[in-house]
Amino acid sequence: MEKYIKAIRDNICAICVDSEEETGCTLNEKETCAVELYLPEILEIVHNTDSEYMDDYYKKLKNTICVNCRGKDNGENCYLREDANCSLDRYFSLIVETIKKVDAGKI
Ligand code: SF4
Ligand code: SF4
Repeated sequence: MEKYIKAIRDNICAICVDSEEETGCTLNEKETCAVELYLPEILEIVHNTDSEYMDDYYKKLKNTICVNCRGKDNGENCYLREDANCSLDRYFSLIVETIKKVDAGKI
């Protein structure tokens, strides 16, 4: 798990709009980062999906994580996603690619 957390920090947090160079993540204690919260589930999706199409991973994100989070109607209708305020949704492709690179020993 540690290697994935480090890779997420280096590759996602580093470019996240909710981060700042000096202090890191700027979310306060009342806000939650979906990438951190759902990392085990995200890993499960990536490790159990064998497809060249990102859409296949994205559908699983909605069907397994979003439905149990704030998404309604099969993972749709999340106001955080609609406002581009969910880090997991915002950077999902990059997160999948980062996890695959860790698994391939590239990072
Ligand atoms: S919101 Fe999440 S992805 Fe963005 S900097 Fe904070 S911990 Fe990293
Ligand atoms: S898009 Fe919405 S429902 Fe899906 S993980 Fe993010 S906050 Fe939760």
